Amino acid sequence: MLMAHYDSAPRAYGAADDGAGVAAILETARALRAGPALKNDIIILLTDGEEAGLLGANAFAASHPWMKDVGLIMNFEARGNSGPSLLFETGPNNSAVIQTVARSGAHPLGSSLFYALYKLLPNDTDFTVFRRRNIQGLNFAFGENLDAYHSPFDTAGNLSTASLQHHGSYALELAPQFGAMDLKELNKARGDDVFFDWLGTYFVAYRQAWVIPGEVLATLGLFALIFLQVRRKQVLLGRLLSAVFVPTLFLLAVPGIMAAIYWVAARVFTSRLILADSGANALLLTGLALLGAAMGTVVFAWCRRSFTLAEFSTAGLALPAC
Ligand SMILES: [Zn+2]
Repeated sequence: MLMAHYDSAPRAYGAADDGAGVAAILETARALRAGPALKNDIIILLTDGEEAGLLGANAFAASHPWMKDVGLIMNFEARGNSGPSLLFETGPNNSAVIQTVARSGAHPLGSSLFYALYKLLPNDTDFTVFRRRNIQGLNFAFGENLDAYHSPFDTAGNLSTASLQHHGSYALELAPQFGAMDLKELNKARGDDVFFDWLGTYFVAYRQAWVIPGEVLATLGLFALIFLQVRRKQVLLGRLLSAVFVPTLFLLAVPGIMAAIYWVAARVFTSRLILADSGANALLLTGLALLGAAMGTVVFAWCRRSFTLAEFSTAGLALPAC
């Protein structure tokens, strides 16, 4: 099932949220109908009342006779009006779904980290209704230029056509892929995948079950490294333990200083909206990040006098291993 909502927030024209999702689905439907028939039917659900509380999605899930036929959902959303369309949410036990996406030609971007964060937020989309009913799915959204979200700036003229195209490319690549599969197979897979794109290029996906064994292996590797370093007298164990103080200081000092500077900036620009996604605020954010990097450099340069590079780098690895 391909899904988007055709209502928009009050005062917003709704070109990105969610006209882009609707347009991408309509164009995909046209293209699919021009090609050979797929094994599975494709349901197109353009919901109403999403902004008012997922009304259309709830109505479909509660009472539509096709509900029992839904094997997988792709939902298209927006929280700004430009930027890449990111895979930010899936259904439960997503392993088989993510493996299919990773092998497809869809050039997916996104991260299971977004999903982990998103689960902590109160935000909902139409997909929430179906995820709660344990239906497999993929939720895509673009989210740059947040000023356009639910605002009068969300017009067709302001919408990034690249973002629109990215929505469409997911639908057009993945609908035939899942349309040719036995979707019941998807539900047999247990467990989730960890996934992310490598700086916008490759899509990396692996079983979450591998994470703990991987960490154990990395920690054992670190122990072996420390053992070798101590035996070759490159590192003294006592000094290594005190060198762990450096990355700890780094982790405390850098965010601490950045938070303090942000507090000052918020007071200086008290009459301005510094949380919005504008060009000036991007400069402010860049400045804050550079300041953090500069602070980190100062911490390292200061501590570098007391420790060797080998002690320094091994201590840096030891901290995340703890
Ligand atoms: Zn929306």
